[in-house]
Order: sequence, then C-alpha cells, then structure tokens
Amino acid sequence: MRYHDITKDDMKNGDGLRVVLWVAGCAHCCEGCQNPITWDPEGGLLFDEAAKMEIFDQLDKPYISGITFSGGDPLHPANKGDVRRLMREIRQKYPDKTIWLYTGEIWERLYQDSILQDIDVLVDGEFILAERDVNLMWKGSANQRVIDVQASLRQGNPKIPILHCPDYAPAEDVWQKGVSACGE
Ligand code: SF4
Repeated sequence: MRYHDITKDDMKNGDGLRVVLWVAGCAHCCEGCQNPITWDPEGGLLFDEAAKMEIFDQLDKPYISGITFSGGDPLHPANKGDVRRLMREIRQKYPDKTIWLYTGEIWERLYQDSILQDIDVLVDGEFILAERDVNLMWKGSANQRVIDVQASLRQGNPKIPILHCPDYAPAEDVWQKGVSACGE
C-alpha cells in the first residue's frame, strides 16, 4: 500500500480529534474530486513500518478518538488487504479507539464483506458534484451516508444501513461543517 499523508489532530474527518491516513489509489474518478493526485495507486509513499509507528504514536495519546482511513479509496484493490490488516492490528492494540473509513463504494455492495468487522463508521458513495453541500456533516455530497456499521450489521436486515448521525450538525457544532468528497 502507498499513501500521501498522515494528518494529526484532525477535526474534519470523524468524531473527536483523529489521526487520518490518506492512502493512494482510487478508481472512482468523481467529477469535482478535490484530491485527484490520490487516484494513482503508484503515487505517494510506501506505507512502511515507520508510517505505521507514526500512526500508533498518535493513537497512544489519550485525547485521540481514533483513526480515519481516507484517500484515495482505502478499499481500492491496491489497498484493501493492507488496510484490513492494519485495522485488525489497531482494533486489537487500541480497542477503545474508533475506526472510520471513507470509500467510493456503496453500502449495498459492501454489507456482506467481512472487512466491515473492524469498522465503526463507514462514509460511503462517490462524490457527486451536483449534490455537493458544504454544510453536510462528515461528507461532501448528499448521496453519501455516514453509516453506523456495527448497528447496521446487528439488525434484522443489514442491507438497509443505520446512520451514525444526521446529515447536518446542530448549530452549536458548526465547526464540523466543510468536509468534501472523501472527507478532504
Ligand atoms: S471523491 Fe473520493 S471516491 Fe471520488 S475520486 Fe476522489 S478520492 Fe475517489
């Protein structure tokens, strides 16, 4: 797997303060994507042991709520296996931290995938320029959904996702606005 950045104390890509891994590789080619440099799976840097330790150093901090995987698409074939192994390791090492993942795939194509077992919140769907709304919470376009993965899988019909939060933040939480596309 290759990646472009690891951002720290991030407030725009999930609940609380987070560490965010921006992976390389995306085949969705959404019109209006803010980060097309991440489309090439050969771009960026090799995700090596030092990069993993950089993430663990952040997760060691008690005020960090968890990790968000974004990109690029963490579920691109070039990334999926390594992302899965990294999520497993994080889940075992940091059971109290949450794991979020942004993908251009949609829930209806993913809900039976075992990779979901280590994801708390999935933001699904391609970025659709015509549905862009900068006031949406944790997502860039109205078609995307911020899904409570484990609640969705536990219910009677997991094909119908249960949302983690409403589309818009309460007025007192306006700082949560302004994400776009895959959370860039
Ligand atoms: S918006 Fe996200 S899913 Fe769409 S092309 Fe950009 S990185 Fe890929």
